[in-house]
Amino acid sequence: MAHVTVAVLGAGTMGAGMVTSLRRAGLPVRVWNRDPAKAQALTGTGAQAAATPAEAADGADVVLTMLLDADAVVDVVTQASPAAGTTWLQCSTVGVEGADRTVATARDLDLVLVDCPVLGTKEPAANGALTLLASGPEEARERLAPVFDALGSKTVWLGEAGAGSRLKMACNSWLFMLTTGTAQAVALTRGLGLDPQRFLDAIAGGPVDSPYAHVKGGLMIAGDYPPSFALGGAAKDARLIRAALQGAGVSDRLTAAVLATMEAAAERVGDPAAVDMAAVLEGLTGSGD
Ligand code: NAP
Repeated sequence: MAHVTVAVLGAGTMGAGMVTSLRRAGLPVRVWNRDPAKAQALTGTGAQAAATPAEAADGADVVLTMLLDADAVVDVVTQASPAAGTTWLQCSTVGVEGADRTVATARDLDLVLVDCPVLGTKEPAANGALTLLASGPEEARERLAPVFDALGSKTVWLGEAGAGSRLKMACNSWLFMLTTGTAQAVALTRGLGLDPQRFLDAIAGGPVDSPYAHVKGGLMIAGDYPPSFALGGAAKDARLIRAALQGAGVSDRLTAAVLATMEAAAERVGDPAAVDMAAVLEGLTGSGD
């Protein structure tokens, strides 16, 4: 199917970028967002703004959800009520329990669910360079091929719906260790009276280097946090990871510390939705506790 029509429900940071990528690939897109201004702002890409989730989903081949959390996802897809047999590409980060709820919702609405959280932030979403952690039935693969080509540079197929959301928990737990580890090293370098850039220079090009340390570390050093992956969303994910660890019988003590640091940072920055998770640095500075 060359021209798969996609209904995108949710045009926040990630959803907006995904609409741009789908349109660049020439796929017909209908977009709905709770705050209609964000859907309207995407009409310049050639996407059609819809007034309701149901209007967006009507006649769409694929319904893509990119919303904050499982409550929003289940609520919005139920409002959309796509035709039986429609492919539901669920890309939001919903955790293990949330993924189980989407499986139950897909069964109730008779949808073909592909649970597909993504790796990558604002720029990869807009540039079609996400990594897609896809899980769901074989029958959905062909229909989704042009959608995945538009959105991502890599697709990992993982078996039954729900596996993608499980792997996403492990990937984000790694990401948060990297980010908070960078924050701690920046704060410690500065606290010991050295320019924190020295830390990034020291690891550059060596076996423990990571491009991410330079991206997030650069923001931390500048104290400038334009949101790419918002601190509030990261704390939401840290709570999902904690629940996943507990459910899997793995200690949650590392992620408990990550979450406490994110919450301390959130108290200092005012609006955790308005800053990048690099602002987690603010949870480490000054208090001594
Ligand atoms: P965002 O910019 O905060 O957008 C959140 C979206 O969810 C907005 O469209 C918002 O609508 C909508 N929403 C929230 N609560 C809702 C509700 N109760 N009913 C209907 N709509 C609701 O977040 P984002 O960064 O795009 O992230 C979206 C999802 O992708 C999250 O699950 C996040 O964890 C995941 N993710 C994010 C990143 C990243 O780097 N940002 C990377 C990978 C995965 P309004 O505009 O009306 O508020």
